[in-house]
Amino acid sequence: MSIKENLEQVKQNIARAAVKAGKRPEDIILVMATKTVEPERIREAIKAGGLIIGENKVQEAMKKYKVLKDEDAEWHFIGHLQTNKVKDVLTFADMIHSVDRLHLVEKLDQRLQQEGRSLDILIQVNTSHEESKYGVAPEAAVSLIKQTARYDTLKVRGLMTIGLFTKDEVKIRTCFKMLKEIYDNVIKEGVDRVQMKYLSMGMSGDYRIAIEEGANMVRIGTAIFGARPTPDAYYWPSEKTDADRAEQM
Ligand SMILES: *Cc1c(COP(=O)(O)O)cnc(C)c1O
Repeated sequence: MSIKENLEQVKQNIARAAVKAGKRPEDIILVMATKTVEPERIREAIKAGGLIIGENKVQEAMKKYKVLKDEDAEWHFIGHLQTNKVKDVLTFADMIHSVDRLHLVEKLDQRLQQEGRSLDILIQVNTSHEESKYGVAPEAAVSLIKQTARYDTLKVRGLMTIGLFTKDEVKIRTCFKMLKEIYDNVIKEGVDRVQMKYLSMGMSGDYRIAIEEGANMVRIGTAIFGARPTPDAYYWPSEKTDADRAEQM
């Protein structure tokens, strides 16, 4: 199937899941996860109606941005972000889904202050409790949200998670329910300057479930572009690197 046909299929599935969840199809935002996908194929997807590009690696994204920046698309950064890449990520990203620690918040704020602007961000939560997945621990999420809210340059607009990779639907739902609960609690409690607007959860294998559990933003790669050549371990290392560990201290 072509990218266009895949995209149409995905949009149909999103619409169906939305209706099942009592929402309108247009309430669900599709972010195309474009890691490893060549610019020309991304361009094809944009032409076919993909409005948002989601990239995982800063260098890879910058290369593609050079080629595609005149296309009518928004750029989201959805991968793990190291603090030494903050300056670079801000050259293309309209939104960052993966803010997960105060140190990163501080570095983003410093750079945004220099540039005299603000940025929409999501807080990434590790709902699967896997060491290999990045994100703030669920029990620390509200605290990080409140701390982040103190920085004028950062506009917290929602939450993001990666569900557990398993065939066990109950376990996947548990991750999504957890994120929705934090989202609802923050709305109920109300945090100054924080606006819970986007719940970014669901990938090719689990976006229907995610939408049923309240997602209004899904990140989909394989179902649009086909299987990737690089193993996912390249993007989600099975072990955190020493640099990551050092940063988290
Ligand atoms: C790759 C990726 C996705 C999409 O994965 P698929 O299974 O190919 O749909 C979603 N979110 C993040 C953070 C990703 O890295």
